[in-house]
Amino acid sequence: MYVCTYRLAGKVALITGGASGIGESTVRLFARQGAKVVIADVQDDQGHSVCESIGSDDSVSYVHCDVSKENDVQNAVDLAVKKHGKLDIMFGNAGITGNIDLSISGINHEDFQRVFGVNVYGAFLGAKHAARVMIPAKRGSIIFTSSVASVILGDVPHTYAASKHAVAGLTKSLCVELGRHGIRVNCISPFGVATPLLRKDLGGAGKEVVEDLVSEVANLKEAKVEAEDVAQAAVYLGSDESKLADKVALVTRGASGIGESTAR
Ligand code: NAD
Repeated sequence: MYVCTYRLAGKVALITGGASGIGESTVRLFARQGAKVVIADVQDDQGHSVCESIGSDDSVSYVHCDVSKENDVQNAVDLAVKKHGKLDIMFGNAGITGNIDLSISGINHEDFQRVFGVNVYGAFLGAKHAARVMIPAKRGSIIFTSSVASVILGDVPHTYAASKHAVAGLTKSLCVELGRHGIRVNCISPFGVATPLLRKDLGGAGKEVVEDLVSEVANLKEAKVEAEDVAQAAVYLGSDESKLADKVALVTRGASGIGESTAR
């Protein structure tokens, strides 16, 4: 007998920035893996057309949500719970690059506010409101999209690099508190995925930088990262498969006692 198992069967996910790029690929893959998905984005037409292209039932829906506004995020989480009865996965993925000017003198207070408002405060608000419903359920998975800019040195705008370091820091900080409630918190740090963020948002003054980056990425050939590769990582982190990784990590950390004997 052939048994088909969907890796996210029965899960409910909220995906911010799900109308485009990495978020959109994740919406499509989550739906194919059996999840019910709510897309939270500011691009309403695009968000609705992603839903329509996936199917006519209510398993993928859209809500307007500016992640930097607490009321919007609260409303999106409440809507997911009202519609589907629970929230298992929060993918805090919405992000912007901000001003492409790479020099320190080209950055002002407004740029910082805007980039940190979406990338950092937006990620935080998603986690805060997801935790509100995940803590009583004693389970859940919160995933952020950080960036390779949080890991290695590179020619990226300072505000963007700083914001993605903050997202990685937020991940580490939140996983300590929320881990006690059975909630996993992880971030994915992609590099050079050819989405509108790279192609369009970085246009204008930074066009050459973008074209260089896009052709550099194309040259990676087999090593090239597609939006769906990031989505696959999100499926793993959102699914029950990654619960095992928590245990493996505990074992590998175990220098004595249970960890040591299990590792042996
Ligand atoms: P994208 O522009 O295709 O998608 C970003 C989505 O976020 C868009 O749908 C946009 O409307 C939405 N968004 C922007 N501001 C928002 C707000 N205030 N509230 C709600 N939604 C908002 O870009 P992408 O490349 O898919 O980016 C997704 C994430 O991946 C971002 O956090 C980005 O920083 C990160 N990232 C991308 C790359 C890459 O190479 N493309 C690399 C590393 C990290």
